[in-house]
Amino acid sequence: MVRYVYDFADGGRDMADLLGGKGANLAEMTRLGLPVPPGFTVTTEACRAFLATGVEPPGLGREISQHLSALERAAGRRLGRPDDPLLLSVRSGGRFSMPGMMETILDIGLNDACVLGLAKASGDQRFAWDSYRRLIQMFGGTVMGLDGSLFEGVMSDLKRSRGVANDLDLNATDLAELVEAYKDLVRREAGEHFPQSPEEQLHRAVNAVFESWRSERARLYRRREHISDALGTAVTVQTMVFGNLGPDSGSGVAFTRDPATGRPGLYGDYLANAQGEDVVAGIRNTVPLTALKELDTTSYARLCDHLRALEAHYRDLCDIEFTIERGRLWMLQTRVGKRTAEAAFTIAAELTDEDLITPDEGLARVSGHGLARLMFPRFDTSAVGEALVHGLPASPGAAVGAVVFDSAEAVRRADAGEHVILVRQETTPDDLPGMVAAQAVLTSRGGKTSHAAVVARGMGKVCVCGAEELALEAGAHRFTVGDTIIEEGTVISVDGSDGTVYLGAAPMVDSAVMRYFETGTRSAGLVDAVARAMEKADDVRRLEVRANADTPEDAARARRFGAQGVGLCRTEHMFLGERRKLVEAMILARNEAEREEALRALLPLQRQDFTGILQAMDGLPVTIRLIDPPLHEFLPDRTDLAVRVATAEAQGTASDPHDAELLDAVNRMHEENPMLGLRGVRLGLVVPGLVAMQVRAIAEAVVERTRAGGSPKAEIMVPLVGAVEELRIERTEVERVLTEVSKESGITVHCPVGTMIELPRAALTAGRIAQEAEFFSFGTNDLTQTTWGFSRDDVEAAFFSAYLDKGIFTTSPFETIDIAGVGRLVQIAVAEGRAARPGLKIGVCGEHGGDPDSVHFFHTAGLDYVSCSPFRVPIARLEAGRAALPETERSDSR
Ligand code: ADP
Ligand code: MG
Ligand code: MG
Repeated sequence: MVRYVYDFADGGRDMADLLGGKGANLAEMTRLGLPVPPGFTVTTEACRAFLATGVEPPGLGREISQHLSALERAAGRRLGRPDDPLLLSVRSGGRFSMPGMMETILDIGLNDACVLGLAKASGDQRFAWDSYRRLIQMFGGTVMGLDGSLFEGVMSDLKRSRGVANDLDLNATDLAELVEAYKDLVRREAGEHFPQSPEEQLHRAVNAVFESWRSERARLYRRREHISDALGTAVTVQTMVFGNLGPDSGSGVAFTRDPATGRPGLYGDYLANAQGEDVVAGIRNTVPLTALKELDTTSYARLCDHLRALEAHYRDLCDIEFTIERGRLWMLQTRVGKRTAEAAFTIAAELTDEDLITPDEGLARVSGHGLARLMFPRFDTSAVGEALVHGLPASPGAAVGAVVFDSAEAVRRADAGEHVILVRQETTPDDLPGMVAAQAVLTSRGGKTSHAAVVARGMGKVCVCGAEELALEAGAHRFTVGDTIIEEGTVISVDGSDGTVYLGAAPMVDSAVMRYFETGTRSAGLVDAVARAMEKADDVRRLEVRANADTPEDAARARRFGAQGVGLCRTEHMFLGERRKLVEAMILARNEAEREEALRALLPLQRQDFTGILQAMDGLPVTIRLIDPPLHEFLPDRTDLAVRVATAEAQGTASDPHDAELLDAVNRMHEENPMLGLRGVRLGLVVPGLVAMQVRAIAEAVVERTRAGGSPKAEIMVPLVGAVEELRIERTEVERVLTEVSKESGITVHCPVGTMIELPRAALTAGRIAQEAEFFSFGTNDLTQTTWGFSRDDVEAAFFSAYLDKGIFTTSPFETIDIAGVGRLVQIAVAEGRAARPGLKIGVCGEHGGDPDSVHFFHTAGLDYVSCSPFRVPIARLEAGRAALPETERSDSR
């Protein structure tokens, strides 16, 4: 018999798959002896069963009743008992935290009779009616699917008629009236009475939480965070405690360290006389935790103790939700807290220093994604003008964009390629699409733990919140700061690191972390924390990291960033600009002599390029790929040429004979599918002299560098090989030229000759290809295209977002390697290649080499190195280190 319900006392933090993060951590806190209101959790498995079949799994109802009875016995109160009712919260929570994305319903168990009992038992009429109206509102919205603004409308009408601005100013009679109005609203809009049976309330609330897993915004959030749709949510049913019982009650959130900077010290917001989401909703202004010390010294001291205990127990930054009910502190939630990239590095270093975690664990807790964020430029504070407005620095980074005031507009403009900043009074989960689309989020209300701040931090999006001088005029599509009016579409700059907003586009400078990689300048704090993580990663990683670099400048930068060689030097980039003319001449050559002349002109230029790169990477391997793209890519555009020739003819003037000749060549060489056409090794085999020229340029560069006292290590790589025969023929030619240059120069030029593995056939015949190849390098971009049978350029815009929507992709296979398909080919090629040639050196040179998740795969697949663009070299180093950590040290980066 499957068990669907666990009491808090029976769970623990290692059960998050089953109990969700919230349920598992409530159980953990209960076991630690912290004051947690009693309750139980319905498993994610029950949710999955419910979502799959549309009905509750058999036995669930009975299990819930049994646990409820136990809860009632322990509390000495009963659900629905009119004189002193037990009230419950029904809370959502999956394996990974999805703040505010699903539903929670508070105060379950109230009805027309129990509300009177609650008033009597608590001695507080107002509180009882306030709780009842909250229940109807949450139940109406979440369970019955009514629009939340309907309730807010009724509430505003009432406040207006009473002449009050704040809901705290409504008295018990007002709230009792509000309850009647809400009940009418439910009857009218939902076509049924608000259910008076507490059991029915509970039952429907549990099912509604299950359903909320599938809500549009929850789905969108999961896609963005790469969380699987298949996991489902757990449902926690918990005894209510009340923060809305007057001034000696309240609720709050707290962190054990600052989640924005990582600096030690408790950190949080508190709101007196408030329940549930009030504290993060930005409806009233919260006070910092330090103020709680004045308000309630005992509870504050207890809270500090609990926070310290939690951090020591979880050995990480924790965040919590708490409520104080008439001077008694209750813990309502904890989890290992989300943090910015800056905080992640800082906290990892500090916890290591405090001996709370090992250096391995410290490395496990930072990530390449985070490092990438820290390498982004920041605003040049010496060059920015005066600030437009200040708010709280809620999520760091620098963003420039046009002001928009609603989510839909943000999405519309972003789709059109514009950078936008979403400006709101406060955000709600409905703003999520706009937050995803925007460069930054700016709000006029709410603290660092408001919805906007929490969600933005989770996404790594810039956010400034609580900019109180910023006045939004509802519906007017503009905001004002003092006398300044900012219309929709105005460009502003948002600095999420210090909370400043500037008018116009502020100039940017490199980040301190970037400066560290460029110059090695180390400073205390963040840079030192990053440097330590890098050292640790370099110490433990097995994968080497090389860079994709086509110029001496890129190669030099890559080396500064820690590259151990060049994994891909694309020679075709050397044929652009001025040199295009020479390539044209080669293509148009009418005879051997003309062709040789064109190639002779290209030779010194190529040699010069290679010499520069070999010098920048002196002593380290440089893998040079022979020409890959179809030659017509070097010719002018076909349509342009045709138009020029046709226009000349129409005007009766003779067209430029060169144009006509070019058009002729372009037409001759036209391909329907250039990606699958005459390119790669095929070019070398059919275009005489081209490969010989390139190899000569490489060999002569090696000679030159050797004569200059250098230690050049060029490797020659043949692209797009599908059959060993292709490589054999090409290699014979390569070696002929190497021998020739060696003889001429008197210096033995040895360059290993290897191949790219970028066609499924190459992967599947890797054992044979390895007989001719001294190394393999996976070209995972082409391999992805040819495995899936789609070309990146043609299809990315056409259907990728639909594929993400439908869950066919969780990320683009061009971003993160498709392990099941492309990855399988990689594994086959590695195994068969090494079987044929033991010790075969194998790397990857597609941009996947710098993608954190892919790096982990390449490590596991047993590759020797990854190669990526220079800026991603530090990211690859870090992730290669993390990939090499023992399984147990690896923590969830989510
Ligand atoms: P979320 O996942 O969005 O944080 P929660 O389940 O934590 O949702 O609940 C929303 C709010 O309701 C939180 O502020 C929480 O502290 C409050 N809450 C939940 N359960 C209780 C309870 N038993 N008593 C008092 N407040 C509660
Ligand atoms: Mg919560
Ligand atoms: Mg390729």
